[in-house]
Amino acid sequence: MFDEASSLRHPANRNRVDAFLSNEAAQPVAVASASKTFLAQRPNTSLEWNTTTGTPAAIAGKLSMPMTGTASEASQSFIRENPGVLGLNAEEVEGLTEVDSFGWAGLQFIRHQQTYQGLPVFGAKVLVGLDDKNQVRMVTSGLRSQISVKSSDKAISLREARQIATKDLGEQAKQRGSITHETVLYPTQQGHVKAYHLTVPAHQPLGTWEYFIDVQNGEIVDSYNSMKFYSFYFAPRARVYPSNPDKTQLATVMLRDVKSPYTKLDGQYCKVINEDATAAQASTTYRFDFPPDNTHFDECQVYYAVEKVYQYFLDLGFRGFTVSNPYGKANGGQLAANVHTGNKYDNAFYDPSTGQIYFGDGSYPSNANGLRDLAKEVDVVAHEFTHAVIDEYHPNMFGSEGSALHEGYADYFACSLLNDPDIGGYVVPAPEAPGVLRNCDNDVRYPNTSAEPHDRGQAWAGACWHLRKQLGQEVADFLIFGSMLILGTTAPTFKYAKDMLLLIDQAWCGSEYKAVIKRIFETDRGIPV
Ligand SMILES: [Zn+2]
Repeated sequence: MFDEASSLRHPANRNRVDAFLSNEAAQPVAVASASKTFLAQRPNTSLEWNTTTGTPAAIAGKLSMPMTGTASEASQSFIRENPGVLGLNAEEVEGLTEVDSFGWAGLQFIRHQQTYQGLPVFGAKVLVGLDDKNQVRMVTSGLRSQISVKSSDKAISLREARQIATKDLGEQAKQRGSITHETVLYPTQQGHVKAYHLTVPAHQPLGTWEYFIDVQNGEIVDSYNSMKFYSFYFAPRARVYPSNPDKTQLATVMLRDVKSPYTKLDGQYCKVINEDATAAQASTTYRFDFPPDNTHFDECQVYYAVEKVYQYFLDLGFRGFTVSNPYGKANGGQLAANVHTGNKYDNAFYDPSTGQIYFGDGSYPSNANGLRDLAKEVDVVAHEFTHAVIDEYHPNMFGSEGSALHEGYADYFACSLLNDPDIGGYVVPAPEAPGVLRNCDNDVRYPNTSAEPHDRGQAWAGACWHLRKQLGQEVADFLIFGSMLILGTTAPTFKYAKDMLLLIDQAWCGSEYKAVIKRIFETDRGIPV
């Protein structure tokens, strides 16, 4: 059955892109001079370098005159007029295609994907933010300059590539859906490689396996698991507080968004799927009342939690689940949540290949080291929901730092919503063990963490939580949500995300919180300046 520990140890978790991302490239001279001229003509503008790509990571200020036309057109003409500033030549600029747009906090954002010789450059994007006069106010970027791709006539077929990927997952591999594919340029230390990007959803080893296979020679350039687990740890390694939802009385809550005819848990924001039974039916008085040990109870619990979390994110400016979804999974903004996943399964997860969230029942108490029912704790739902929100804006976020930020943001927003820094207090039962699975009110320093995403993510969640203690929930949630939204690359590092936080503060709050952000994220947490 499901075994997430072995799937996280599986050799298919290559994550070779990490080495590429930690490579510090020098900034190309031509780019630097184009940017210098650009900045000299515009007082009060700022520029951050991306030391991996040698192109600007972020430019902010009044970057253009007001323009006519749509935000999309204005964004395009800005890029066409200033290729050098972005580190591209005129020909490379023609390879940018618009892939997404959204409004947030007074700006309209347009995202463009970099392509080269007709193929998308994986992870290389640029985001342009314009105000209501179509004046460009900020650009964040993960673009690559001077792309080189080695070419030869030899090529393997897509069929061969699929065989290479499935063979690599091992003899026991069991698929749980069909393999999807696209051809991309994938970054390596030796330049970009034309690769088949295959997404393989599997039960065994459990995961959504992303493969990048060299089109020319069938070599596996990189591979990783993009499924977002609630926890890497099994319960034996977890800690709990003595208090838990057992002490909460059952209460009647309002389910505001159930669709007509109001007899199923199917609403504007959430649809629940019960793996063990047909869907819960309302009584003739429209009540979904089931005792906690009834199979339908978890459906009600998760439905309520998703509505609550969804509303929280909408208040932060979340646009809902919509367009930017490569798998066609959005259903009018509705998120599907699965309960009773697996058999006594000790985990919860978000699956990017389906866009759905899943909750196991846990194996406690028949397994003394197992977890309690994961559907019954709201912070677990909020954590998985946050993964879905990040995936909505940044599909395919990759690199171990990208994964750690995914976890860090997921823990932070779950805790902020509930105004409680503990994660997993109920699901981890061991009464003799103090503490909880994870705690956002921590002092974890970034340089002391391992590359394991939940471990490293604690440094990010902890820094965010301390920012919240300093600035209050309203301001901290605004800055932190904004920093996630404007990430200009899908392979962000902690330094990059922290710089985006500073940029949000600079652009919307006049750098009022710069000193406190720098103290908490750089001095206290050791995230690079
Ligand atoms: Zn997670």
